Amino acid sequence: MSLIRKFTKGEVLGFSMKRSDWFIGIDLGTGSCKSIVVDEEAKVLGFGAAEYSGLQAQDRWQEQDPGEILKAAVASAKAAVTESGVRSADCAGLSIGGALHSVLALDGHGDPLTGVITWADGRGVEQSRALRGLPVASRLYRETGCPSHGMYPFYKIMWLRDKRREVFAKTWRYVSAKEYVLARLTGDYLVDYCLAAGSGLLNTHTLRWNPLCIEMAGVREEQLSALCSPLSVHRGLRPEFAREMGIREDVPVVIGSSDAANSNLGAGAVNPWQATCMVGTSGALRVISSRPILDEEARSWCYAMDESHWLVGGAINNGGIALSWLRNSLNLVFPSLTTQAPLSFEDVLSLAQSAKAGAGGVICLPFFAGERSPNWNLNARAVFFGMTLEHGLSHLARALLEGIAFRFRSLKEVLVDIGVELRQVIASGGFTKSGLWLQVMADALDRDLGIPVWGETSALGAAFWALLSALGGEGLEKAGDFVTLGDTCRPNPESVEIYNRMYPLFEQLYQSLEKSFDDVAELQAKLGR
Ligand code: ADP
Repeated sequence: MSLIRKFTKGEVLGFSMKRSDWFIGIDLGTGSCKSIVVDEEAKVLGFGAAEYSGLQAQDRWQEQDPGEILKAAVASAKAAVTESGVRSADCAGLSIGGALHSVLALDGHGDPLTGVITWADGRGVEQSRALRGLPVASRLYRETGCPSHGMYPFYKIMWLRDKRREVFAKTWRYVSAKEYVLARLTGDYLVDYCLAAGSGLLNTHTLRWNPLCIEMAGVREEQLSALCSPLSVHRGLRPEFAREMGIREDVPVVIGSSDAANSNLGAGAVNPWQATCMVGTSGALRVISSRPILDEEARSWCYAMDESHWLVGGAINNGGIALSWLRNSLNLVFPSLTTQAPLSFEDVLSLAQSAKAGAGGVICLPFFAGERSPNWNLNARAVFFGMTLEHGLSHLARALLEGIAFRFRSLKEVLVDIGVELRQVIASGGFTKSGLWLQVMADALDRDLGIPVWGETSALGAAFWALLSALGGEGLEKAGDFVTLGDTCRPNPESVEIYNRMYPLFEQLYQSLEKSFDDVAELQAKLGR
């Protein structure tokens, strides 16, 4: 594509940096869009956020309105620029990060034929299950780094082919939310390697669309965006958007990466021995490796980021979304006792604080939105086990935090098994706002958790790509120099001991329920809601 220029190390963007230069990162998260403005030394100057009106849930569907995501991107960028008090003429780069695994179908005018089908959408489950255990599933994993799981757009496209023939027939392009926003902002269909890898359609070794996936999904390569390295630079921000955001029109748009990869950059976890433990709406434990790392049992994933870096790890569906479920459920019956306002996350966390480590023996399998790593079971369900008359809501709240942390422990075990040496774990995502939640995680992992001074790591990481490109295409490792860690949350030996004894029970409970998860899913499919 002529508009795209691959950025090679040492090349400069045609300007030398000035002290007044600033960079903006926009993060299209699952629940909201966040933007950050940084100066030429990566210091944060301003922040803006705009919420989406929420996921539309219909049975196991989770869709978002693409127009709302675009609006939130522009609004959050404008808020960050306004808060920073910077001059639009000094904007030296913009980069956008996007949530992995979303897909929407566009018609020949570039208009949406579907909503944004998010990672949490369960409708590809049958298409992925049909391949499980077959030799082709291992081949797909080896080539794409993606285990068989309905969350990947590869399977969602198959679902559209099987169940929405008219949409499938009319589709001109399949794009993620980030590609949609980029296309609206610039007029071009471009995708970074990491988001492309997260679709399940990219060969993670050759960095090309994978011919086998394209054939199996029944798509044509021209229906997919042009593949770009994260430091590729594009110009052509549409003037009306530039004006609204307070950014100059000819700003370099640096292609950047996914929210997941950006979260590692923004947390300074840029070496193979540094993991981020991220809990936002979902959750993940991941490292940036200088080689692809695959698991013989396909418990982890491996997404290309650029020609010499891969994002390796495991992700869970149920991070903050599980806490949101509890808060929302409690809000149906209890407003806050003191203010009569709806309960906040803080209220639910103080409820959890009043139960001791181990939640009085209550164990929560937090699979409200099915499961990804390590078992990739979309039929898994949430369970509270071990309640007696002595237990109350505080035990449920505590057990829920512990259940999420136990799943992170499973991810840690997988990473260690595949040869990742975890010398440092850095926390990121919304859970870093809670001392209790951080402590539960440190105790369940039995690891120190470093806490970045700036917690919005995905938006910060997006801004770093723009800065790295202006620095002459510096390697992404340079981002490690931009990040300052603040406090460290250290494990409490007594709680570690308790969790060491509870974790095997958590695993055992999960395994004993595997068949029941399938049975109830089958029953529900027959009975409906
Ligand atoms: P995303 O980027 O996926 O939209 P965030 O990183 O913003 O998500 O994290 C959102 C999650 O953070 C919420 O679901 C909630 O569980 C958690 N959270 C939000 N506010 C707080 C808080 N004050 N204390 C602890 N956790 C919080």
